[in-house]
Amino acid sequence: MTARNLFIVTGLSLALVAGCSSDEQSAKNQNQAEDKTEQPDESKEENNATYENESATESDQPNEDESSTSEYKNENGQSENQNAYPAMGETVAEENGKKIVTNPDSIYVVANKERNLPADFVPENLVEPDVPFYANEGDPKRLMVEEAAKALEEMFDAANKDGMQLKAVSGYRSYERQEAIFAYNADRYGAEKANRVSAHAGQSEHQTGLTMDISAPSLGGSLSEKFGSTPEGEWVAENAYMYGFVVRYLKGKEEITGYQYEPWHVRYVGKEAAKEIHEAGITLEEFFAK
Ligand SMILES: [Zn+2]
Repeated sequence: MTARNLFIVTGLSLALVAGCSSDEQSAKNQNQAEDKTEQPDESKEENNATYENESATESDQPNEDESSTSEYKNENGQSENQNAYPAMGETVAEENGKKIVTNPDSIYVVANKERNLPADFVPENLVEPDVPFYANEGDPKRLMVEEAAKALEEMFDAANKDGMQLKAVSGYRSYERQEAIFAYNADRYGAEKANRVSAHAGQSEHQTGLTMDISAPSLGGSLSEKFGSTPEGEWVAENAYMYGFVVRYLKGKEEITGYQYEPWHVRYVGKEAAKEIHEAGITLEEFFAK
């Protein structure tokens, strides 16, 4: 674990961009009630309805198997060691001056504004978790990688038993869709604003299929910081790790993640890593640092 504690912020700029901006817009378009809630992110005023009806065309792309997700696990029965997880420095390659992650199909992948997912990467085994959604049936944003989808179902079941009403907003998003959203915003608002309100294609964690944005009926499905102080948001912050999820963009860690606080965005990393990350109160950038 020592290496993880040595993380140094290298070049991530201040957190000005909502990684989920398009989700916010989408949820808004699909749910009439949420307009009433507070929407601190200016991206919510934008209308991306144009993109709502895209079909999932990327499901037929080839992919390597998922074995990379297990190769980092400690198999010798000893307690964890610093080599149990892939360090970020070992999972990136430079291509045309751009850093591209080499383990996009790993549950330990770290994608951010400095670490791009390959443009042609589409996760394997995308399925729809059986949980309540704001998005319409058949919408690609209901998809997640199967392992993460099962974990999400477990988490929603447990939350439900505790009286929580979680509702899913947006999971998988293709490179092409992210590209279209960015282009739309750039065209409409100029590149500078587009950069603040939407992620560049390849830099959205939603492309991994390992994430889900979650809201609650009390917020009408909006994705706002207020979620963090709802019973549902507090439940997620306290319990998500037990199901293999972490809240990806923590308050106070904006300069490390490059994103504003997003209590609604959970990321699957498996139960083992999630527990360590949760207990340490750190980000993926810190946990996988080296
Ligand atoms: Zn998100």
